[in-house]
Amino acid sequence: MRAVLIRGAAPYGEQPLDLLLADGSIVATGPAAGADERAADAEIVDGAGLVVLPGLVDLHTHLREPGREDAETVASGSAAAALGGYTAVFAMPNTDPTADTAGVVEQVYRLGRDVGLVDVQPIGAVTVGRKGERLAELAAMATSAAAVRVFSDDGDCVSDALLMRRALEYVKAFDGVIAQHAQEPRLTQGAQMHEGEVSARLGLTGWPAVAEEAIIARDCLLADHVGSRLHVCHLSTSGSVEVVAAAKRRGTTVTAEVTPHHLLLTDDRVVGYDPVFKVNPPLRTAGDVSALRKALADGVIDVVATDHAPHASQDKETEWDNASPGMLGLQTALSVVLQTMLLPGLLDWRGVARVMSETPARIGRLTDQGRPVATGEPANLVLIDPDAGWTVDGDSLASLSGNTPFQGMELPGRVVATYLRGRCTVSAGMLAGR
Ligand SMILES: [Zn+2]
Repeated sequence: MRAVLIRGAAPYGEQPLDLLLADGSIVATGPAAGADERAADAEIVDGAGLVVLPGLVDLHTHLREPGREDAETVASGSAAAALGGYTAVFAMPNTDPTADTAGVVEQVYRLGRDVGLVDVQPIGAVTVGRKGERLAELAAMATSAAAVRVFSDDGDCVSDALLMRRALEYVKAFDGVIAQHAQEPRLTQGAQMHEGEVSARLGLTGWPAVAEEAIIARDCLLADHVGSRLHVCHLSTSGSVEVVAAAKRRGTTVTAEVTPHHLLLTDDRVVGYDPVFKVNPPLRTAGDVSALRKALADGVIDVVATDHAPHASQDKETEWDNASPGMLGLQTALSVVLQTMLLPGLLDWRGVARVMSETPARIGRLTDQGRPVATGEPANLVLIDPDAGWTVDGDSLASLSGNTPFQGMELPGRVVATYLRGRCTVSAGMLAGR
């Protein structure tokens, strides 16, 4: 593989310098990069005006393969991820068959390696078939070639307290983490949107904030009790922020994620009954949005995770009640974070790297992702033009589905190039070599 010399890009938006990538690593930075003998026949990339960050890592992606290859495949989802600046994604197990055995997680892992655009790290189901009845073969998945460390029944909550306790206990043996989709099922039966003023006006069954907060509170206590790691998926309410903040003050080993759509959109979008705005957990209020932004800035919320959830048009473009919940996220996440966090001054570029790369990699125990932009580190990088804007168009995204809630919005920041272990996966904003 040819060496790459990136000239004058700014790590974390700070001092521009040269970066030499060779043999999968950043082998030299600054004046040493150009002086290195490997720079002589390197490909030169003009990084002037570009910000360089460690490649982004998504803890929460739905790739739909195996089973729903009409909505997304490992290949199409990997392309969307690379174009969005990602070098690794964690694939949720709600596939068909469910990723609840070593065989299925290894299949997804190998598909990801064959595509080769991002590292696809499978998440294993907590319970067999995600049915919430008995634990899946967690240890077999952990010791498989996929080396699973994150387990989740996402889409459904592990609502049985005893099963949740057992799962938290079990994964300690291999430093695993349970990623909980916090939704008390009885409190959300038939729920169609956030329970509040707008749901009352529209006459739609509400999804109350307390259904999320009660599960998070319970799980933090359980995690404390057994001394295990808990990760809260797509935290969406100001009350959940308070619960997690209190648990962290107590010393609970809990981490939490927020999605880009919960950082930007509110429940009044539902007024037009456009199912593109149907998502689980639902869009909340403006008060929740500002609490989530503040919590992400303060570190109460640890990471941004996309919950990228492609749906085929027959499942999504139907009447509100029957539409599948979920939204695309991989190609818009960085721009939404720039819009909601960086431009208002809530996070700087180092903060963006922390919440979109370093911390998600650490939670998922990926050792060669989310590393600093520095000599000797793996060359997993994204180059961003912070001054470019773009208009989101679902038809032009790489996903096989078009359900972006940001359709027609103008967002800041463009991914110019992505490197996975020194190999260019995206160049000039397009998939490399295509
Ligand atoms: Zn979920």
